Amino acid sequence: SPTPTATATGALVEFRGLRRAFGPTVALDGLDLTARPGELLALLGPSGCGKTTALRVLAGFEQPDAGEVLVDGEDITRVPANRRDAGMVFQSYSLFPHLNARDNVAFGLRVRKMPAAERHARAAELLELVGLPEHGGRFPHQMSGGQQQRVALARALALEPRVLLLDEPLSALDAKVRLTLREEIRRLQLSLGITTVFVTHDQEEALSMADRVAVLNAGRLEQCAPPAELYERPATPFVAEFVGTMNRLPARRADGGRIEVAGVALPVDGGIPEGGDLEVLIRPENITATADPEGTATVVSASFFGSVTRVLLDLPGGGTVHSDVPSRDAGALLPGVRATVAPAHRPVLVVPATGTTTGTATGAAA
Ligand code: ATP
Repeated sequence: SPTPTATATGALVEFRGLRRAFGPTVALDGLDLTARPGELLALLGPSGCGKTTALRVLAGFEQPDAGEVLVDGEDITRVPANRRDAGMVFQSYSLFPHLNARDNVAFGLRVRKMPAAERHARAAELLELVGLPEHGGRFPHQMSGGQQQRVALARALALEPRVLLLDEPLSALDAKVRLTLREEIRRLQLSLGITTVFVTHDQEEALSMADRVAVLNAGRLEQCAPPAELYERPATPFVAEFVGTMNRLPARRADGGRIEVAGVALPVDGGIPEGGDLEVLIRPENITATADPEGTATVVSASFFGSVTRVLLDLPGGGTVHSDVPSRDAGALLPGVRATVAPAHRPVLVVPATGTTTGTATGAAA
């Protein structure tokens, strides 16, 4: 019989060689990925990269064409969804409209034949856990979007699942509620120690909440790493340009295995491709921009982000660059003003030149 007070503990979740095609569309193309016990793993990637399909395969709503899903070493690939130990929260509020919050949360417990008094006590406990102790009698239409998602979370946790699956649970909410719920989901997830797989297309959400972020591209894993590592040491150009804002600037080989960008020789992170034209990937915070009447760059726009101001500049040969300037130093960088731009002396990722406009900024002849 169910134990209403037991705490869920983290399971080890493994995707091995998952493949799933829908007609000619390959949604998962040999996905290998592990969620460690108790961690919050975010699946991040552009639209159509296979995030939701991966989550649905884990939930049992979708069968892979090849590969396995293991939970704590047990192959559950063929186990039907209703016999998998997973709680799920979706983007759209999926509460039963004719049930109040308490009965929504207790629904699964009722299906499992838990006595009424016990399941009501358990539902009250869960509503308290998600910060809605007074809302048990409310129906979905009497609650805000954020409150409904809290109830959905309580419902997902009611059966003490070994894995919590979240499919863009915050994307229908307004910005303020989203930020609050991010923190609350994270706090809850940490306190319960429940392994959580979180699908999002919002990189800020992934980076701010997750222990590790898995970046997917065309059904494959590009990189899975803690947020700071993903940002500081992207394993591929795709990750470099997908996560955060990135400048792509023309470069050429310099002495001592270094690379020259805008007249400055920089150390290299991860080697220099053989032959052909080269470009480097540099974050806006690693580009300085200073107002200078003799400068060759021109300020296009400046966006205030609180402590930093992101300045967009035209470069002499065409092309643009983003520079993050401490806001207290950015006052003179007004549109039309001349400026000098220089890369900070930090290791850069060197890639073959594409000559095309990709990512969030494009380079020009230095
Ligand atoms: P988004 O962020 O837009 O939700 P996603 O990364 O979650 O995208 P998936 O929903 O997993 O991507 O879809 C991956 C690919 O598989 C897409 O090209 C999608 O159109 C396709 N696809 C997914 N489900 C089906 C289906 N049931 N029938 C046909 N094609 C599908």
